[in-house]
Amino acid sequence: MRPKKNRCVKFNLSQVYFKPRSIPMFKLEEINLTVDEIEAVRLCDYLGMSHEQAGKSMNISRSTFGRIIQSARKKIAEALIYGKAIKIEGGVYKIKNGAVYFCQKCKHEWPEKKLNKCPKCKKEVL
Ligand SMILES: [Zn+2]
Repeated sequence: MRPKKNRCVKFNLSQVYFKPRSIPMFKLEEINLTVDEIEAVRLCDYLGMSHEQAGKSMNISRSTFGRIIQSARKKIAEALIYGKAIKIEGGVYKIKNGAVYFCQKCKHEWPEKKLNKCPKCKKEVL
């Protein structure tokens, strides 16, 4: 079997744990969301990237990204519907160091350097 390629993650949420308030710990069921899955949700559902853009950001193909986001959404839905806890841990990923800047308009990302304008669409960056 071919080893899975590291998925590039720019926002580290490992060690995060969500627990529904009304359910006592001993009754609580837990769902494990991997770090690459929550990164997929962040890029696609929060930042509004397409699967293609988000896949590029994570250094994986569009179809691999599609599988990851589908799995992530199903787990999150299950946790919300059945009141399960969500633990974010594990997955095949590599944390990319350094700040990443992101253009709200065209979704272009660039590393490290703070710029006043997006290098791609020239929109002013806040
Ligand atoms: Zn831009």
